[in-house]
Amino acid sequence: GSSVQVSGVSKQYASEQGTVQALADVNFQVDSGELVCIVGPSGCGKTTLFRILAGLEPATRGEVTLNGSVVTEPTPNMGIVFQEYHLFPWRTVRGNIAFGLEKAVGLDGTDRDQRVQQLVDLVGLAGFEDSYPKSLSGGMKQRVALARALAIDPALLLMDEPFGAVDAQTRERLQAELLDIWQETGKTILFVTHDVEEAVTLADRVVVMGRDPGQIREIVSVDLDRP
Ligand code: ADP
Ligand code: ADP
Repeated sequence: GSSVQVSGVSKQYASEQGTVQALADVNFQVDSGELVCIVGPSGCGKTTLFRILAGLEPATRGEVTLNGSVVTEPTPNMGIVFQEYHLFPWRTVRGNIAFGLEKAVGLDGTDRDQRVQQLVDLVGLAGFEDSYPKSLSGGMKQRVALARALAIDPALLLMDEPFGAVDAQTRERLQAELLDIWQETGKTILFVTHDVEEAVTLADRVVVMGRDPGQIREIVSVDLDRP
C-alpha cells in the first residue's frame, strides 16, 4: 500500500464567464491500505480532484504527495481506472492487460504471460483472453481496465466513477469483486463516485464534498461489518 497526502489543494479554471474555483483548499490524507471514497454531487470538483491526484492536471495551489513524493505526473506506482474504460480497441483482453507490463516494466515472454493469466483469473475473465473490447459487456470491459491497472502492482489504485456506466446488478457484482481484490492485494484505493450508497458500501472513510463547491464538507468513518 501507499499513503497519499492532499495539502491545501486549490484549482481555478479560466472560462469565458470568468474564473471558476473548482477546488478551494482541499486537505485530507489516505493511509496505506485504506479504501477511501470521494463523494459529492455533480460539479463539486470530484473529477478535478481526481485528475490532480493522478498527476493528470496541476493544482493552482497546494500539492499532492504519494509516499512523500510530490505528484506531478502519472507514475507507474499508480493504477488508474476511468468510467469510460479507455481500453485499446485494437488489442485483445490479454494485450490490454499486458500493455503496462511490456511498456513500464519491460516484462516479456513467459513471465509476462504468467502475470497476465494471474490477472485474468483475479478479475474473472478466464476464457476471454483473446476477445476484443468491442465484444465484451460493460462490466467485462471494466474488469479488463481494472486488471490492466493492477498489472504492474501499483501501490495506489485511483478510480473515477468506474462503475457508473454499468447496470445496477453488474455494479453490485463489481463492487463485491473490488472489495475481494482490495482484501487480497492490500492496495490503497481512492474511489470517486457521485453515489452515496456506493461510497458507503465500499469505503473505510468517505470524503464528502459539495454544498460549498470545491470544498470538503466532512470526512466520515464508516464502521461496517463486512460480509
Ligand atoms: P464533478 O466531477 O464533481 O462533477 P468537476 O471537477 O468536473 O466536478 O467540475 C468542478 C467545477 O469546475 C465545475 O463548476 C465545472 O464546470 C468546472 N470545470 C471543470 N473542468 C473545467 C475546465 N476544463 N474549464 C473550466 N471549468 C471547468
Ligand atoms: P457483466 O458485465 O458483469 O459480465 P453481463 O450481464 O453483461 O454482466 O454478463 C453476464 C455474463 O454473460 C458475463 O459474466 C459473461 O459470462 C457473459 N457474457 C457477457 N458478455 C459476453 C460476451 N460478449 N460474450 C460472451 N459472454 C458474455
